[in-house]
Amino acid sequence: MEAMLESLTIRILLIAKGILFGFLAFLFVGSKIVPGPSIQGVKLKTGERRSYKLNGLNLYLVVLLTVALAHYFKWFSLSSLHKYFFPLFVVTNIFAFAMTGVLYLVGKNTPDALEHEGPVGVLKALFYGVELNPTWWGVDLKMYSYRPSLIGLSLFNISFAVAQYEQTGALSLAMILYQVFTLIYVLNYFQFEHGMVFTWDIIAERFGWMLVWGDYVLVPFFYCIGGWFVLARTTEIPVWMAVLLCFQFALGFWLFRGANDQKHRFKMDPQARIWGAPAKTLGGRLLISGFWGIGRHLNYTGEILLYFAYIMTAGFASFTPYLLPTWLSCLLIHRAWRDDKRCREKHGELWTRYTRIARFKMFPFIY
Ligand code: NDP
Repeated sequence: MEAMLESLTIRILLIAKGILFGFLAFLFVGSKIVPGPSIQGVKLKTGERRSYKLNGLNLYLVVLLTVALAHYFKWFSLSSLHKYFFPLFVVTNIFAFAMTGVLYLVGKNTPDALEHEGPVGVLKALFYGVELNPTWWGVDLKMYSYRPSLIGLSLFNISFAVAQYEQTGALSLAMILYQVFTLIYVLNYFQFEHGMVFTWDIIAERFGWMLVWGDYVLVPFFYCIGGWFVLARTTEIPVWMAVLLCFQFALGFWLFRGANDQKHRFKMDPQARIWGAPAKTLGGRLLISGFWGIGRHLNYTGEILLYFAYIMTAGFASFTPYLLPTWLSCLLIHRAWRDDKRCREKHGELWTRYTRIARFKMFPFIY
């Protein structure tokens, strides 16, 4: 820790600031100019329907290509992300707090701003945000912020592979698996970007410290924790274990992606076909075909399985990398409980009937 703090010289912090701002500016301009289809969001309380340009996948591919070219021509090595990880963590935190303040100052006088009074009110407004859909130069900031979040996470992950290659001249099997799993996870996010438009965060959550810090700091800096341990791992992963982890990842991905996709298609078109047959419903509102006829939150179960699969490539020498999937499991178990409560209030008797069909929330016979 002392060595990390000593490494924080003004020069290094300025380099980290340059990397951060260059990255954010590249993604901001890219969000405006890279082509992609547009879709309409849901009707907001104000009656407004917002249009979202879904160019995240194209932008992600542009970033990967740019970084690969920069690496090839030796303009920039991705291992510098690994080298400047701690200074980047510091400047990104400063950025997240500063952005929270700016969002508050710019948003507090807008027509739909959250009403608040007194010092406690201001703190709450800073934490939860005042504006629902802050938009700068035509870019929706909530949708935009997922890009530095997930693309940043992906670049940090790749930087561990580059660092290992530079140190040893090869990639371990554990590192290859870690790279494949995490790359599929981020690629899937951008392929499913249209689904984000219908999430609670985009529809109902205001943009304050909670989302800003989560997007800019929590996801990129903490979700890559396993990469440090895969890089430091001195023993190779046994082949039988690699096969098991691939199986676990595939199962998790099938549940996670499959359940989210089925619900999304059903919401878009109640006649959608699920597993080759027309969707079966309760009262036309609740889907009871496919994964949704088996368990009430198999998308969460799948996500937990795939997180454990990619973290287990780090081995078992330390519990530290397991803090991430353990934390995520607690978050999703709690979220499943909260969502059940919310749906019981919203759908009433229909939800009770649904719980008799899809009998468990996440784990058969347990929860
Ligand atoms: P869901 O996508 O599961 O959505 C829940 C909502 O869907 C319910 O409130 C209800 O809303 C509707 N619904 C529930 N059951 C049915 C049904 N049978 N038929 C039709 N509609 C139904 O949850 P989230 O929005 O919380 O999560 C979205 C994704 O994000 C998940 O895959 C989750 O794993 C992931 N996630 C990842 C996190 C991370 O940090 N990695 C953190 C949080 C989430 P209504 O009735 O109002 O339509």
